[in-house]
Amino acid sequence: MATALLVLDMLTDFTSGKLANPAAKQITEPIAALARAARGRDDWVVIYGNDAHRPGDFELAVFGEHAMAGTPGAEVIGELAPQPGDLIVPKRYYSAFTETDLDATCRVQGIDRLVVTGQHTDCCCRHTSYDAFARGITVVAVSDATAVYEPFAAGRYQQAQDDALRYLRTYYGAEITSTADLL
Ligand code: ZN
Repeated sequence: MATALLVLDMLTDFTSGKLANPAAKQITEPIAALARAARGRDDWVVIYGNDAHRPGDFELAVFGEHAMAGTPGAEVIGELAPQPGDLIVPKRYYSAFTETDLDATCRVQGIDRLVVTGQHTDCCCRHTSYDAFARGITVVAVSDATAVYEPFAAGRYQQAQDDALRYLRTYYGAEITSTADLL
């Protein structure tokens, strides 16, 4: 069986663009370190779940236009650029499983554990985690490699992040760990 390191929405629009998140900066190096380690392990694969929206996508009514497919805002930031052998999953909904090929990829690759990184902990990470949970895939959430959307946290960033992680542990049985513990 195998582990997937899932990197969610570490895109230009989600870091410095239309949905700029100051908290994205502090999780970039931990994710990079995890990706380097994952690429060196036979039983790990790196999978990117990347927003690639089309005009009219339902989510745009909530967040406004962001990460439109084919635009610079929808590109993975340079520090985390995908490498040969990594898998890319374009998505149009919060969950990287919704109407994508991630389910098939997990079955073909025998993935039974998903290490969730990226953003936002209480949105795309959470919805993807639910879909993993519903497939019997173990969810591991990395506390210092995930981030909530700071502009929504109303000055209580750490509380919002802790609450989001607690939700994953409470409802999906997620293991909450740190980058250091995984390396
Ligand atoms: Zn989106």
